[in-house]
Amino acid sequence: MSKQYDYIVIGGGSAGSGTANRAAMHGAKVLLIEGGRVGGTCVNVGCVPKKIMWYGAQVSETFHKYAEGYGFGAEQVTFDFAKLKANRDAYVGRSRQSYANNFERNGVEKIDGYASFVDNHTVQVNGETYTAPHITIATGGHPLYPQVPGSELGETSDDFFEWETLPESVLIVGAGYIAAELAGVLNELGVKTDLAFRRDHILRGFDSMLSSQVMEEMAGAGITLHPNAVPKSLTKADNGKLVFEAESGEVISADRVIWAIGRGPNVDNMGLENTGVTFRKNGYIETDEFENTAVDGIYAIGDVNGKIALTPVAIAAGRRLSERLFNNKPNSKLDYENVPSVVFTHPIIGTVGLSEEAADAKYGKENVKVYTSTFASMYTAVTPNRQMVKMKLVTVGEEEKVVGLHGIGYGVDEMIQGFAVAIKMGATKEDFDNTVAIHPTGSEEFVTMR
Ligand SMILES: Cc1cc2nc3c(=O)[nH]c(=O)nc-3n(C[C@H](O)[C@H](O)[C@H](O)COP(=O)(O)OP(=O)(O)OC[C@H]3O[C@@H](n4cnc5c(N)ncnc54)[C@H](O)[C@@H]3O)c2cc1C
Repeated sequence: MSKQYDYIVIGGGSAGSGTANRAAMHGAKVLLIEGGRVGGTCVNVGCVPKKIMWYGAQVSETFHKYAEGYGFGAEQVTFDFAKLKANRDAYVGRSRQSYANNFERNGVEKIDGYASFVDNHTVQVNGETYTAPHITIATGGHPLYPQVPGSELGETSDDFFEWETLPESVLIVGAGYIAAELAGVLNELGVKTDLAFRRDHILRGFDSMLSSQVMEEMAGAGITLHPNAVPKSLTKADNGKLVFEAESGEVISADRVIWAIGRGPNVDNMGLENTGVTFRKNGYIETDEFENTAVDGIYAIGDVNGKIALTPVAIAAGRRLSERLFNNKPNSKLDYENVPSVVFTHPIIGTVGLSEEAADAKYGKENVKVYTSTFASMYTAVTPNRQMVKMKLVTVGEEEKVVGLHGIGYGVDEMIQGFAVAIKMGATKEDFDNTVAIHPTGSEEFVTMR
């Protein structure tokens, strides 16, 4: 006999916990099935440990680049990676525990194990079957390896978070935000860092001001950039070093190699062939704007549907789905436009809305007006290591509606959220101009651009 629920959620990461908790708050009988660790990617091998590593790198940067300008001697600074890892892991453990506590508090029943579909309304876990009229797939994704000889000698971001010691040198392969972030962290923590990528720029798809500036700053900070490096093979030399060869013939050697070439959806070995769920060309589960799959009563949210792979997106989509299914809000759905995000590079990037290039393509170059500002961050300006901040507003039409806001440099990470509210509300350049600046801050530049 199958056990019967109102709602079954497969995956206890950001998306799964968001939807399960909200459904239970509305009185639904909810079963959550988690095969790995609750909290999923974000808590265990993503945002949370990554941000702590980024903070660690910031502390290092402060000692080594800026302390002197403020009169502090930093010659005696020591660094214990094991201590950073232990403190980080303890924090991650507490975050994970808070996920488990939330399930308990909201009355979400959780079982450990991998779920597999028997039919459209039944899943099997550890030999038991469970049935519900509504089932959500929130199984997330995994890092990809390139299809080249020796790729198994390399590691992924998941492995990076297991490292007990830091290598002397590392090669990171990839052009996305994970590659860029890990390169920045490792370089600031004193590892000789190389970054190899397929085309001529990293962070393609972001405003070109951001990708150009971050590459310039990375190179200035000592990261060796290898554009146009398409992986061909990875081998191990007699001296123990890994040797990466690009199709161009370029060879790069390092103690460890991290593949950060992209991620794929977790859809294998879960009996999806027993359902009518369909897939997009790139393998992600096909969903409509309400997160419905092709099957009535099966939904897919978070990374597995391939819309926008960010934790707050996954949580918000999950909560809205539960509002629709269990709180009588038939129109509840997530608006995927103007989602703000931060890239935790060195220097840091904050962005919301359209890049200048995307706005030109969407509205026509003649209808787009851009405002920019470049200045030395005050924090670094009194030190020998001045760092530039660059900002851009992208506006369209006569009313100069702000459709994009981008910044790179000290402090932009904490500036963006509030501006994202304004942009979501349809703010114009005049609204920005009418807002009195906060002085002296970096964010005032966004409301004083001419
Ligand atoms: C290195 C890195 C850094 C990142 N940094 C950020 C950041 O700074 N900010 C940000 O917003 N996002 C960041 N992300 C992205 C973010 O982590 C994801 O977008 C988010 O975790 C997606 O949530 P999800 O619930 O869709 O998937 P996940 O969090 O991956 O959760 C899926 C869960 O499903 C479980 N599962 C899979 N298959 C089954 C099955 N068959 N049965 C039962 N359980 C199953 C898995 O064990 C997992 O726990 C980062 C990601 C990475 C890899």
